[in-house]
Amino acid sequence: MESNIKGKVVVITGASSGMGEAAAKHLSALGATVVLGARRADRIKMLAQEIQDNGGQALAFAVDVTQRDQVKGLVDAAVAQFGRVDVILNNAGIMPLSPIDRLNVEEWDTMIDVNIKGVLNGIAAVLPYMKDQKSGQIINTSSVAGHKVFTGSAVYSATKYAVRALTEGLRMEVKPYNIRTTIVCPGAVKTELLEHITEADIQQANKEYVGAVGISPDSFARVVAFAISQPEDVDINEVIFRPTSQEL
Ligand code: NDP
Repeated sequence: MESNIKGKVVVITGASSGMGEAAAKHLSALGATVVLGARRADRIKMLAQEIQDNGGQALAFAVDVTQRDQVKGLVDAAVAQFGRVDVILNNAGIMPLSPIDRLNVEEWDTMIDVNIKGVLNGIAAVLPYMKDQKSGQIINTSSVAGHKVFTGSAVYSATKYAVRALTEGLRMEVKPYNIRTTIVCPGAVKTELLEHITEADIQQANKEYVGAVGISPDSFARVVAFAISQPEDVDINEVIFRPTSQEL
């Protein structure tokens, strides 16, 4: 079977570390052209260089996904350079877990801005192009926490439930344009995600848990590749994956 990845132009947000970085490397190795966005420009520029050194095609742009014009600029740059955008992987996200009664209200705002509005900004940036092309795929990173709530995850889970809700609504609405939509819900994956938890006790508990059961970000990259690689008339709408040892 042809992989249906080779030659595609794939925009990835949150590509500077963890699962976005792994997806960028894997998709590029499978023949995709990748256009990388994240705030840490040094990291994504190094990654783009590494991909190019390995014979792939990659561009990198400093992007804050909470800024709609910056996300639009990322997608516009992909189209200007490569003539189209086939896939966007709205993957940028943060997870500063804490119980609600600690009232980390600024973290709530930031989670909503990055995890929900950031995804919406990605959708808004690609839709006009994908409608014109009558093809495309929008892949949004949710979480097992988008299916389950646990102590300390209320706001984070709310953002990841929201990602699933808006992706399902999008799925139904973009039928006339031949656009595919995919929700990816990872379980515990070893990345930098826990570094931004500001509550020491919560961070320690999560580090112990993910340290014990967490799997490699390559797992996510393979799931994303699976969804993209299907023939155009097959739409993988949602994938949940966990470490085999994860009970939650
Ligand atoms: P990392 O912290 O390693 O990666 C997060 C990425 O998001 C980084 O590239 C970061 O780049 C980017 N990012 C954060 N804020 C912004 C912003 N405002 N604008 C642009 N980019 C931003 O964690 P993961 O790889 O684990 O996280 C990727 C996604 O997976 C997230 O959506 C997360 O919620 C989700 N997830 C993770 C799980 C896990 O166990 N690791 C489980 C389930 C879901 P930079 O800081 O350079 O901007």
